[in-house]
Amino acid sequence: MLAKAEKASVATTVDNWLAQFERALAEPDNILLATLFHADSHWRDVLALTWDIRTVSGLDAIVKELRAHVGRARPAGFRTAPQRTVPRQVTRAGTRAIEAIFQFETADGRGSGVLRLTPDANHGTAPKAWTLLTSLDELSGAAEQAGRSRSADKSYSRDFRGPNWLDLRTAAAAYVDRDPAVLVVGGGQAGLSIAARLTQLQVDTLIVDREARIGDNWRNRYHALVLHNQTLANHLPYMRFPPTWPSYIPKDKLAAWFEAYVESMELNYWTGTEFEGGRYDEQAERWSVTLRHADGTQREMRPRHIVMATGVSGIPNLPDIPTLRNFRGTILHSSQYADSEAWRGKKALVIGSGTSGHDIAQDLYSSGAKVTLVQRSSTMIVNVEPSAQLPYALYSEGPPLEDCDLIMTSIPLALARKSHILLTEQARNMDRPLLDALERMGFKLDFGDDGTGWQFKYLTRGGGYYFNVGCSDLIVEGEIGLVQFSDIAGFVAEGASMRTGDTLAADLIVLATGYKGLEHQVSGLFGDDVAARVGPIWGFGDDQELRNMFVRTGQPGLWFIAGSFAQCRIYSKYLGLQIKACEAGLLPRVHAVPDAAGRARLGLSQ
Ligand SMILES: Cc1cc2nc3c(=O)[nH]c(=O)nc-3n(C[C@H](O)[C@H](O)[C@H](O)COP(=O)(O)OP(=O)(O)OC[C@H]3O[C@@H](n4cnc5c(N)ncnc54)[C@H](O)[C@@H]3O)c2cc1C
Repeated sequence: MLAKAEKASVATTVDNWLAQFERALAEPDNILLATLFHADSHWRDVLALTWDIRTVSGLDAIVKELRAHVGRARPAGFRTAPQRTVPRQVTRAGTRAIEAIFQFETADGRGSGVLRLTPDANHGTAPKAWTLLTSLDELSGAAEQAGRSRSADKSYSRDFRGPNWLDLRTAAAAYVDRDPAVLVVGGGQAGLSIAARLTQLQVDTLIVDREARIGDNWRNRYHALVLHNQTLANHLPYMRFPPTWPSYIPKDKLAAWFEAYVESMELNYWTGTEFEGGRYDEQAERWSVTLRHADGTQREMRPRHIVMATGVSGIPNLPDIPTLRNFRGTILHSSQYADSEAWRGKKALVIGSGTSGHDIAQDLYSSGAKVTLVQRSSTMIVNVEPSAQLPYALYSEGPPLEDCDLIMTSIPLALARKSHILLTEQARNMDRPLLDALERMGFKLDFGDDGTGWQFKYLTRGGGYYFNVGCSDLIVEGEIGLVQFSDIAGFVAEGASMRTGDTLAADLIVLATGYKGLEHQVSGLFGDDVAARVGPIWGFGDDQELRNMFVRTGQPGLWFIAGSFAQCRIYSKYLGLQIKACEAGLLPRVHAVPDAAGRARLGLSQ
């Protein structure tokens, strides 16, 4: 009875706040609006009001920014979303709050959001907003053809002489006499996600990938690989993995699913096709790109948009170690390492202690090589289970996937940092025996900047951590050797010459030294001017968001998508909506310097 009364009171509190918010937005001054947010609150907007992904923090800034956009976006109709998780008390980043999913409309379409209310300690009893998310779900007149809006087109079953579904699909994917509106470079989870979204939005899209077969980006990884995150957080858009699948998906099973996904979602996908680069024609607002097929033939195309989905690991990072040229054995970058069997009974040094370094060391060890891991800098180690699963706990707590995704989207950077400091501390305690044993072996540990852990290492530098699937145990047991790079005086013909005077003999040195940032790839494929126009990619910018990811960039028609399955699933939706809006003439194609008409449309000062 009490629980029911509590639920009703939570719902009423949320309804009251939303009603006040709508009234405040309509009022000419900011008096009411300023009473609805805490001084240290956060508003994250994902396209709904700003056509950008941005976070604004602090009462004054929020009020100013909301006011700058309501005139154009005309948000209205705020109400609790009836089909979604009901408003409830939760703990986020260590703070107890009421959390509610709501819906609304804007001049552009339909949106949904998440409101978190916490008590106002100073004034009265009405709680104020601690965090607010507003996000765009659908453009007016461009609903996805899904569920009740699924396509009813039966023409190909009525005209017996005409092309059937297969004929149409084959022709669509061949691009004999047309070019796609969007070219997606890379057909991993990022490329598949955005291509599926765009296809649903009826934007003509082609994926190209240099690999011979769909799924090879997983198939070609090491033999024993299973995914690190649980299946329930790893779905691609629209098509869930079957509920019978194991908690951790093996790489070849995932690769086969990618093939099935492309088939089922009717994606146009060219395998064995290298994207060699492109030039932008400002007048025509199109790219000229060159594609090279595996048989050496070329195809020129003129798409309006290019989405780079090539992974955050672009060009191999080869460290400058002058004495390495003395070594007479084989040197491979981790990206070139493939055949562990070739090293059976041989000695190997693996330089670098991130995921690749550990995985390759374990792979070589399993094939009978004598392996030593060389640590260059401190590394975060997390047991893959249960510790590494902590950030995804929400996905096993009950709310449907769409609600979990929206809740994840609603966490502003400041809260995410706080939350990850708590999770890192929790993981550190859970993994204490392993971490202590590693330190005893001389392994140098860290836990990220300010203890923010592996997720922030991934989001800021794309590495610097390892989920222990066995290699750390092998190091602790002394099965895999460990030396610090600083203890190596230099490399000689036979291996590494240690400062102690000993030589660590090797037949193979693997440089698991990571990759250069995506901006290097951009400059190689599009030239330095485009790279300069776009600027740094990935890592957080001043606006508390990942730089140049999922949004318009300084280069018209050039977009980026990368990240985990969850990130790709979530943000492909918003990237798809922006490209659709550009195609519909609703949105200027460039982010940093919209033209005068675009600025007017976006409600920005001229
Ligand atoms: C052991 C292990 C477990 C993992 N577990 C998980 C997990 O559970 N969940 C999770 O979210 N992530 C996991 N990851 C991380 C995951 O691998 C990466 O996040 C993922 O591969 C990134 O996908 P992507 O589509 O961005 O890039 P990629 O998978 O790297 O795909 C990029 C594609 O672009 C193609 N390409 C690049 N350049 C060109 C070009 N010029 N022309 C044509 N094609 C090109 C490549 O051939 C490639 O197929 C795991 C990684 C490892 C190693």
